Amino acid sequence: MPDAVVVGAGIVGAACAFRLAQAGLKVLVLEKEATYAQGSTGRSAAGVRVQFSEPLNVLLSYHSILEYRAIPEAGYRPIGYLFLVPEALREAQEEALKGQLALGVPVQRLSLEEAKARVPFRETGLAFATFGPMDGVIDPHGATAHYLGEARRRGAELRFSEPLLSARRQGGLWRVETPRGRYEAPYLLLCTGAWTGEVGRRLGLELPVYPVRRMVFASAPAPFPHAFPLTIDLATGFYLRSEGERVLLGRSNPDEPPGFREGMDWGWLGPTLEAGLLRFPFLEGLALDRKASWWGYYEMTPDHNPILGFVEEGLLVAAGFSGHGVQQAAMVGRLMAEEVRHGRAQSLNIDPFRLARFREGRLVRERGIV
Ligand SMILES: Cc1cc2nc3c(=O)[nH]c(=O)nc-3n(C[C@H](O)[C@H](O)[C@H](O)COP(=O)(O)OP(=O)(O)OC[C@H]3O[C@@H](n4cnc5c(N)ncnc54)[C@H](O)[C@@H]3O)c2cc1C
Repeated sequence: MPDAVVVGAGIVGAACAFRLAQAGLKVLVLEKEATYAQGSTGRSAAGVRVQFSEPLNVLLSYHSILEYRAIPEAGYRPIGYLFLVPEALREAQEEALKGQLALGVPVQRLSLEEAKARVPFRETGLAFATFGPMDGVIDPHGATAHYLGEARRRGAELRFSEPLLSARRQGGLWRVETPRGRYEAPYLLLCTGAWTGEVGRRLGLELPVYPVRRMVFASAPAPFPHAFPLTIDLATGFYLRSEGERVLLGRSNPDEPPGFREGMDWGWLGPTLEAGLLRFPFLEGLALDRKASWWGYYEMTPDHNPILGFVEEGLLVAAGFSGHGVQQAAMVGRLMAEEVRHGRAQSLNIDPFRLARFREGRLVRERGIV
């Protein structure tokens, strides 16, 4: 009998499975797809950054980046994140920067002139920029494969093409049903990303996580003089970054309805480019590669921050990262293993992200989400 059943083999489930197995627990991973990283993990823009306003987000990312840096398979590349701050957000971003520096994470305030050396842009309406030299990108597939491999080396069993159908608590155990079998374990950990609301309903629980489709547009290869950091125009939420000789572009559509809507929304390309060209005129004439562009689901919660930790006896949730889970998974794995071993996460206080905040009306206001 396993000690813990982890549901979901995205980067979060993989990191949790590894840390639980490392803590000496017998772990069973259930994944509905035929292999790992088929959910949001395989669709992300792969960015990692410490530039958030909520201290817990800063620290989850910071410790995760430190960990990715030491894992060759995680493919960490510190290309940096550049935030372009409009006048209207000057105060809020000054405040966020102060908080980041107080936590000791590396972020620099740049003049617009200094920022332009990293990526050319039009200054209209901007106040200043911030740059995170430790920020960058990783390889989410590589990191997930690494964690699952390490979990397996420590005795974890991985079962693919095996969805959780139902689960209930009985006699101090979680009794889990899949199309292929029944399992019992004292601990059940839901790392089910955008599907967590749906999985919660199978357990009779209201878990406020829902899918929202997001697009990443890829340019055709083009000869740029140097690589661009992941650059975000906070005036519109438009972002770009280099990927090899290509540029990746994106912007969240605030009117995208929640739900499992599939495929590229090419209608959103216009508003994305409109915002992009205003700020980055050098994009004019850049050819788009439709086949290299992709879509995936953000796993949204009402305040766009994750749900972490115990929600019921023996039941944990690590889901709902709302578009920033790749950069937090490593630390979340450690915290969830602590939560199981000690009854409470110890390395960081995860209380701001517990499920109870939604009942108690304590939503977290994170300003650094795009
Ligand atoms: C376009 C896009 C860009 C993004 N950019 C970034 C970025 O730059 N940086 C960043 O940090 N994050 C980014 N994200 C968000 C990031 O991808 C997610 O936050 C992260 O991958 C969440 O990982 P996860 O393991 O929780 O979820 P997932 O990777 O979705 O894994 C959940 C797994 O659970 C499985 N599952 C679901 N239901 C069941 C069931 N009943 N039984 C068994 N298995 C089940 C699914 O098949 C899936 O494999 C982006 C996302 C998208 C879509």
